[in-house]
Amino acid sequence: MRVVTTREELRAARAGLGGAGEVGLVPTMGFLHEGHLSLVRRAAEENDATVVSIFVNPAQFGPAEDLAAYPRDLDHDLGLLAAAGVDLVWAPRVEDVYPAGFDTYVAPGGVADVLEGARRPGHFRGVATIISILFHLVAPRRAYFGQKDAQQVAVIRQLVRDLGLPVEIVACPIVREPDGLAMSSRNTYLTATDRPAALVLSRALRAAGQAWENGERDAEALRTIIREVLAAEPRAKVDYVSVADPRTLAELGTVDPAVGALASLAVRVGAPRLIDNLVLAPRA
Ligand code: AMP
Repeated sequence: MRVVTTREELRAARAGLGGAGEVGLVPTMGFLHEGHLSLVRRAAEENDATVVSIFVNPAQFGPAEDLAAYPRDLDHDLGLLAAAGVDLVWAPRVEDVYPAGFDTYVAPGGVADVLEGARRPGHFRGVATIISILFHLVAPRRAYFGQKDAQQVAVIRQLVRDLGLPVEIVACPIVREPDGLAMSSRNTYLTATDRPAALVLSRALRAAGQAWENGERDAEALRTIIREVLAAEPRAKVDYVSVADPRTLAELGTVDPAVGALASLAVRVGAPRLIDNLVLAPRA
């Protein structure tokens, strides 16, 4: 496994993989857990070579967010990636990605304006910019993203469609702890008392999933079910609850059973702001 830092090193190392055939890319911010590794394993299965990036991207953090405190452990990450059979890791410094004078950003449209985008202005502009840089430098055949960040998947699919990028976007299922908590690097911020309270996110989504299975098609009724479960946990401070069109992320009135919906939420439990979601899959 090669580990490179600068753009030039990445380009040269990528060229070295050229003869290997199809390349799969997994972009990450590091502090890797089983969620990330599920993407890496899938990329390794479906491609001839696997490239992983580890970069805590300042452009996708707001001024009041946790950029400086974001957990990092590069040595541990590299051990996990080597064991998973990764061929190439790009772990750039901020100045490798954004050299002095950098002044071009990729601005996604409406799908980036709601939900996370509405609470985190500029977040998806930062995401779309780093993903565009990565796609150009790595030229992957496929790129792997977690459904954990469902809006990110929607924004990147739109980016790829609009710019005609020759990359297949593969969305991978959310990996959860045995008790249901969606794995996240930010879970390390949870205190021992907040950790059990954080289960309310997945519990609330499961309640909505059950109602959907039982025939509930009214989106506001589904949101109410989610809010009621969340309200029973005093440590949970709700940011948003959404039942939206899975592609545009526009809030729905009635869910079309042929299309389904994305139920998603953001909740602060103690210090960390946690997100989770559940696809309400189309029903015949
Ligand atoms: P991050 O390092 O948080 O930027 O995540 C890198 C990639 O891993 C993103 O595509 C995430 O959606 C994905 N990911 C993070 N947590 C999980 C999880 N619990 N299950 C599946 N994918 C995940």
